Amino acid sequence: MADHPTNNSQPSPAGKSTPRFELVTLGDELLLGLTANSHLTWIGAQLGRRGVQLDRNVTISDDADAIARQFRESWSRADVVITSGGLGPTCDDRTREVIAEVLGQELVFDPTLMTAIEERFAKFNRTCTPNNRKQAFRFARGEVLPNPNGTAPGLWAQQDGKVVVMLPGPPNELQPMFLEQVLPRLAQLGLISEQESYIQLRTAGVGESMLETRFQPIFGRYPGLGIAYCAHQWKVDCRVSSPDGKYSRDTLEAIADECAALLGDDFVCLGHDSLAKVTADHLRQSGRTLAVAESCTGGLLSNSFTDICGASKFFMGGIVSYSNDSKMLLLDCPECLLSQHGAVSAECAVAMACGVAEQLSADYGLAITGYAGPTAGKCCDENAVGTVYIGLHSPAGDWSKKLSYPGARATVKQRAVTAAIDWLRREVVREARRAAQPLVN
Ligand code: ATP
Ligand code: MG
Repeated sequence: MADHPTNNSQPSPAGKSTPRFELVTLGDELLLGLTANSHLTWIGAQLGRRGVQLDRNVTISDDADAIARQFRESWSRADVVITSGGLGPTCDDRTREVIAEVLGQELVFDPTLMTAIEERFAKFNRTCTPNNRKQAFRFARGEVLPNPNGTAPGLWAQQDGKVVVMLPGPPNELQPMFLEQVLPRLAQLGLISEQESYIQLRTAGVGESMLETRFQPIFGRYPGLGIAYCAHQWKVDCRVSSPDGKYSRDTLEAIADECAALLGDDFVCLGHDSLAKVTADHLRQSGRTLAVAESCTGGLLSNSFTDICGASKFFMGGIVSYSNDSKMLLLDCPECLLSQHGAVSAECAVAMACGVAEQLSADYGLAITGYAGPTAGKCCDENAVGTVYIGLHSPAGDWSKKLSYPGARATVKQRAVTAAIDWLRREVVREARRAAQPLVN
């Protein structure tokens, strides 16, 4: 398919038409609110990085008529239709058969697919039942997208100058198939760009209005530059692109580098890495280790680091010390300190950070203690809800920081974790900078 279809009305500034992408997510569980539709956010983000904005996402039930109706509609409008779900072996998995009928495609039995399914069952010591056979059927005029993490293969077909991509529902199956098989095929057809179409600057600790004000002198020198801000809790991302192709990739990179230098430690990374991942990379580079202690965040801080593949290289462990007793028992917090200052105090945060670093033999100790709310406990007045102290033990010294985050319990917890990790990141970066500086007599 050398030319992609031009039946849409969104010509790009470069003169080419912009292909229309629609995502049809299938599943009663999505409509019942039992499963969050993460395919929209995930696939939307992947396509966005390659210069395509999803035109539409429609979520429908597993009902055969609903699938046929929706697919017909999407197919009449879009250049690429991606479906997710309904490729399994059970009677409620009807996507393959329904879409084949709408497209007038014959479904043919593929012995190689059947062997792969049987081998997968044998590998996990499970019995392959006759209904699994239906997953071995593929379009007569189409391609199979092998599924390394499940029995349901994906399907790809090009027809009427359009593309249909059918993927299984489970995210752990869909995501690698999309990255490794779908994106390269779409790029080869010229439907998405070969590489990321924008450069993203990830920043922390600066609000979006201040960020724009700081970047303005740089961006002002490049008329027509595409600039977009996206604020998250504590972090703001800024995407820089060249919508009309006026600026080369090298120029965009130079602009991003200049912005990064201007921001100093408020700059986190180029790209999409999490704060924890960036912090972990800095820790690994400097050969330092970390241990965490937390009360109100109940393991969320630990979880941010154990989410990172290879965390054992720098993460010694975490202690959830919710009660005063556990703070004394597990972290060696002195009883007199707790009775004098309380568990939600600067003194306690520092004692927790030092205690966990000592107990787990880590270079850095990071601690969180606070009132997550929404109601005040018996030792806390209403105004204190959302008060969080972060404690940091580092090779350069021990500090604490008080934060105030009134809001829902989950929000307070998440914000406290993000702020704590960002503080650690800044300190690790500073330490590396100090270490790199020549000693002056
Ligand atoms: P299976 O072989 O597992 O049946 P399938 O292709 O038939 O795969 P579904 O049965 O539709 O897929 O969905 C399987 C599971 O995938 C669902 O229970 C749900 O947990 C997850 N899932 C499906 N669609 C989505 C979605 N849009 N976002 C997140 N998870 C999803
Ligand atoms: Mg299913």
